[in-house]
Amino acid sequence: MVTRFAPSPTGYLHLGHVYSALMCQKAAGEKGRLLLRFEDIDHTRVRDQYYDAIIEDLEWLGVTFTEKPWRQKDRYEEYQLALEKLKKQDVVYPCFCTRKELALENPLSAPHGDDAFLYAGKCKALSDQKRESKIESEIPYSWRLDASKANLVAGALTFHDAIRGQLDVQPFLLGDVILARKDIQTSYHIAVVVDDAAQGVSHITRGEDLLGSTHIHRLLQKLLGYKEPQYFHHRLILDKDGKRLAKRDASLSIKTLREQDKTSEEIISMVLPLEP
Ligand code: GLU
Repeated sequence: MVTRFAPSPTGYLHLGHVYSALMCQKAAGEKGRLLLRFEDIDHTRVRDQYYDAIIEDLEWLGVTFTEKPWRQKDRYEEYQLALEKLKKQDVVYPCFCTRKELALENPLSAPHGDDAFLYAGKCKALSDQKRESKIESEIPYSWRLDASKANLVAGALTFHDAIRGQLDVQPFLLGDVILARKDIQTSYHIAVVVDDAAQGVSHITRGEDLLGSTHIHRLLQKLLGYKEPQYFHHRLILDKDGKRLAKRDASLSIKTLREQDKTSEEIISMVLPLEP
């Protein structure tokens, strides 16, 4: 049993992270290994001070890890190799759309990043010639998963979630997601799948907001020849308005709560009970 806690060093931990870290610790139990991995590929949002602050808060809460933490920003080469494998299988395509074009295409979607809506597939329809000429003119591009080709190559898949049981993979759930962003040449989806396999993670414990992504991750695991992990998508800690906590809610950051002299027991009790 190997599980992991994978925060992004883009802010201080909040109560939602405390719950997730405690669930990971519980999943690892006495005999399992609990790994810490910093998901820091997005250099535009990562700040140096958060790495140590996160470790310090976790130690203070009594959550300790068996090995030295991994940093995804040291692992771009591995992510590139995985992308090359997908290119060879012809299950990805370059996308030249700008943010502005994507926003026009989806006027109703909030600007939460490239994956917030289903991509209509404009660049998938480009002829080989058009594609080549855009690449030659050095127009920046990202790489998208071709969900229909990926589905054909991978075949029908399932995954197992501890709460929901066996689920069928829905390859089209998130559309043709971005697998390599223009600016960082990789993505959350690639990095997480490559690292979970490389670290031998057998049980992935994380929030249920990532359930949709798991459909993509299973597909990528199959295409890349990785083992299938087990999943536990746990509940989310919500604020008083029923919204999921975000790093901008500074009032519920562990740092703020500690400054108010809350003890670790008091903070932990704010997120209890843990799921069975
Ligand atoms: N970095 C993600 C988060 O902080 C977790 C991703 C994962 O566990 O796969 O929500």
